[in-house]
Parts: sequence; structure tokens; C-alpha cells
Amino acid sequence: MARLGRARHDAARFGSATQQPSVQPEPGAFFMAQATLMPRHRPPREIWQVLRWQVWRRDRGLCQGPYCGSQPPLPLDGCQVDHRRSGKLAGNALANLRVLCRRCHTLRLDARHRGMVAGALKAGLIPPDWRRFVWAEDLWPDEQTIADFQRWLARS
Ligand SMILES: [Zn+2]
Repeated sequence: MARLGRARHDAARFGSATQQPSVQPEPGAFFMAQATLMPRHRPPREIWQVLRWQVWRRDRGLCQGPYCGSQPPLPLDGCQVDHRRSGKLAGNALANLRVLCRRCHTLRLDARHRGMVAGALKAGLIPPDWRRFVWAEDLWPDEQTIADFQRWLARS
């Protein structure tokens, strides 16, 4: 019981860190609290679905990647939920999760994402010279690169 209380506390703290105080405990909060206790690994499917929904709602369905600008929101089943930090430091706290579109997700610098490149190229979602558009948290593309990507998008 103490364990769960602690998790709830953590969940509330992470919630406020996202500056979205409107995310209040709800039916899914119990599962979210549990999920915050599970770093490194993706939680069981049903818990992940709740987390996905919470992240999508907090981000209002908007891709948090660098290339989307004023794109319309993504539907829940059309968004991808990305871990800001993955690997050893990864956690499933809401503060570590964000909505990305398939384009921005594919281009994010993470060896785990390399498998998505071939499919995205084939689908025409990323340009042939995609390597110059790869980005990371501390390697945000400059304005010129973003403009180049959006020019390519408008053309394709
Ligand atoms: Zn995007």
C-alpha cells in the first residue's frame, strides 16, 4: 500500500512537471502509477494503452517533433508515443513520454528506430537524404534544416 502511495505521489509529480495540471487522477491513474514503477521495459499492453491515451491527451494529439509545425492533431490510433530517454535511463513516467508522428519518430536519433527507416522511405514519408534530418533532444535541427524538410514535404 505504501508502495502504491509513493507511486501515486510520483505520478502526480511527473504530471505537474509537464505543466498540464489538468491531467487529474482518473480510472487509468492506478495503472499509470504502477507503470511508473517499471523503468526500462515497456509495461504490459493494457497499461501501455492507458499511458498512450494519457500522453496523447496531454499533447493534444500534436507531434512534439521538430518538423511538424502547425500540422493538425493526430488521431490516437495514428500517433506514436516516444520515450524521450530510452535504454537504461528510460522510464514510463508521463514526463518521459511524448507524441510523435511517424516521420519525426523515424528520424529521431536512436538505434532502436533504425528499423523504421526502410519502411518510411518506401512509403515516401522521409526524403532520400533523410540522414541530414536526424534529430535528438540535444541535437535539435536548426531553422534551415526544418525549412528544408518542410519544403520537401510541400513538394511530395
Ligand atoms: Zn512530427
